[in-house]
Amino acid sequence: MDIQFVDLRKQYARYRAEIDAAISRVIGNTSFVECGEIESFERDFAKFCGTSQAVAVSNGMDALMLIFESLGLTPGDEVIVPTNSFIATALAPSSVGAKPVLVDCDPRTYNLDPAKVEAAVTPRTKVICPTHLYGQAADMDAILKIAAERRLTVVEDACQAHGATFGGRRVGSFGYAAAFSFFPGKNLGAYGHAGAITTNDGALAERLRRMRIFGQTEKYVHPTKGRNARMDGLQAAILGAKLPHLDEWNARRRQLAALYTDLLSSHPAATPFVDPRGEPVFHVYAVQVERRDELMAYMKSHGVACNIHYPIPIHLQQAYAELGHSRGDFPEAERLSDCLLSLPMYPELEEAEVGYVVKTLADFYRR
Ligand SMILES: *Cc1c(COP(=O)(O)O)cnc(C)c1O
Repeated sequence: MDIQFVDLRKQYARYRAEIDAAISRVIGNTSFVECGEIESFERDFAKFCGTSQAVAVSNGMDALMLIFESLGLTPGDEVIVPTNSFIATALAPSSVGAKPVLVDCDPRTYNLDPAKVEAAVTPRTKVICPTHLYGQAADMDAILKIAAERRLTVVEDACQAHGATFGGRRVGSFGYAAAFSFFPGKNLGAYGHAGAITTNDGALAERLRRMRIFGQTEKYVHPTKGRNARMDGLQAAILGAKLPHLDEWNARRRQLAALYTDLLSSHPAATPFVDPRGEPVFHVYAVQVERRDELMAYMKSHGVACNIHYPIPIHLQQAYAELGHSRGDFPEAERLSDCLLSLPMYPELEEAEVGYVVKTLADFYRR
């Protein structure tokens, strides 16, 4: 057995005709940048998220950074972010001189704990930025309520959650704006780097479209400063070809997750809790296990590639030493960083492979 953590070759093999046609079209038309492919993908992706606007950009980090740049924060302004996220969620407010204020998670959903968010709000707080971690929406009812009461802006880090819902609404549509990543291994993956911002604010979308292209309104006319953060035509065309299949892929991920959860019910691994108010898309299927690092090595030696999301919470990263945190500050995130193991998960994974992964895990504890 050789089970990859994510195997992108299988998807390409299945959709090769559609993807190759999209690539040839772009090259044939030399639609490399600033082309109809971008507008067409923006329309389709906004529709998918249930927003009026999508702005295609270079990657997920740039999507987050452009959103924070658009907010006009000033040094000392505070942005609440989860400490158990990919570091980009904190880097984005840092990049505009704002201070990320890290908050611990709910031990069941692994998403921002609203009570801890409430406790972290100060007079300097401007933004709450939940990550919809592993593809499950954060508690948007509670977060939107706190934001409304305290007059805060909500920015979603939806980089792992394309298509996930909360209360029947898709992520990306809840706040001021949301950032998506199309890094190859994400639920909707490009063949290189790409990202998008969704929003229901048409004026903001127009501003973001200028910011991503040197701040220009027309060629060589720059009323404001900007940078180059555009998505290229090839990525837009590839993403456009893949998007019609995303709902089916997400449904398949849920099916595989349910199978894992079922098969693991009699084994010593705590399976993910699904908040009944939402429908997750399982970008990551993570279980809590004992002797995690030993188990991971055992799985690897038996042909199963696992991963850890994330071994070091943001508050313990050297890059954020300036925040003055130490071990013990965020016990839930710390505990999870020591015991979570992400199992192979992608739509083309087969039931028999899920069975083998679970059997291998069980064998490790039975030895
Ligand atoms: C992937 C990811 C990003 C960054 O996306 P890139 O496209 O790699 O820049 C940001 N936040 C989270 C939570 C992510 O998972």
